[in-house]
Amino acid sequence: RAKSAGGNRFELADPEADARAITRHGLTTALPTALDRGEFFIEYQPLVHLGDGTVHGAEALVRWLHPQHGVLGPDRFIPLAERTGLIVPLGRWVLEEAVRQARSWQERHDRSGPLRINVNLSPCQLTHPGLVADTVAILEQAGLEPDALCLEVTESALIGADDSLLKPLRRLAEMGVDIALDDFGTGYSNLANLRRLPVRVLKLDRSFTQSMQQYPADPVDLKIVEGIVSLAHSLDLAVTVEGVETGAQAEQLRILGCDTAQGWYYARPGPPERLHELSLLDATG
Ligand code: C2E
Ligand code: MG
Ligand code: MG
Ligand code: MG
Repeated sequence: RAKSAGGNRFELADPEADARAITRHGLTTALPTALDRGEFFIEYQPLVHLGDGTVHGAEALVRWLHPQHGVLGPDRFIPLAERTGLIVPLGRWVLEEAVRQARSWQERHDRSGPLRINVNLSPCQLTHPGLVADTVAILEQAGLEPDALCLEVTESALIGADDSLLKPLRRLAEMGVDIALDDFGTGYSNLANLRRLPVRVLKLDRSFTQSMQQYPADPVDLKIVEGIVSLAHSLDLAVTVEGVETGAQAEQLRILGCDTAQGWYYARPGPPERLHELSLLDATG
């Protein structure tokens, strides 16, 4: 198939782009009913204290077991779910599942301190009027303390956020729910803005962790991370790092003062039972 590109010039259609469009179309029609068909599932990735390696909690990461395409990562369908509005019921389902899972870990391990559960929130969920009420109901139903929950919001979702957007986050924060700023350092970080946000945790983007891979690490990146950590701590914020893949990175980030870490070096995202297998849960419990 060739399509006219104006005038007498012709452009061959890109077969790969066509295949992508077809896939996209297939996903678009299957997505709205996938929730009812029970095709979504959650993998959990532990968050570890950099100081002693004990588990601090886990992040819930949604996947779609598509009948034809197999397991699809969130990058394949979250943008679509956001455009179609499915993200609201899907996000609520993830929260419900993850909170229930966290409660069951706690019961099983009888920990003194709470095992935390991190759940990602999309910008559409922030503007949805049911966010606070749904979250309260989900926590109550599962019997999980609000301070065991951390909601991750990307920095870009809060750029230029006015009070109407921040109000539900403030309400949740007042209840004891932690708010984390995800992928921190990738957007147009306005550090002065941080004071205005009800945020307790900065999740430093993987790009910083990646630059710790070289030895010696890029001195400018080291300075930047050092600066972010010291600013965060002076504002009483904790710093989590994503994408830690090597022991050397973990050590470097620990020296730089980061609090918790997440990455393949500790564990890939996996089924909830994996947290038991890691037997990391028992380290403090
Ligand atoms: P995120 O919240 O920044 O999650 C971290 C991503 O980094 C995850 O990708 C995780 O699997 C990956 N990761 C963890 N450790 C490593 C590592 O050591 N190396 C590398 N290369 N990658 C690592 P994933 O699971 O594909 O999720 C991608 C994004 O999709 C998430 O980024 C989050 O923004 C979004 N997402 C996932 N689940 C949900 C959800 O339930 N709701 C919403 N709204 N978004 C979600
Ligand atoms: Mg996240
Ligand atoms: Mg992140
Ligand atoms: Mg990320």
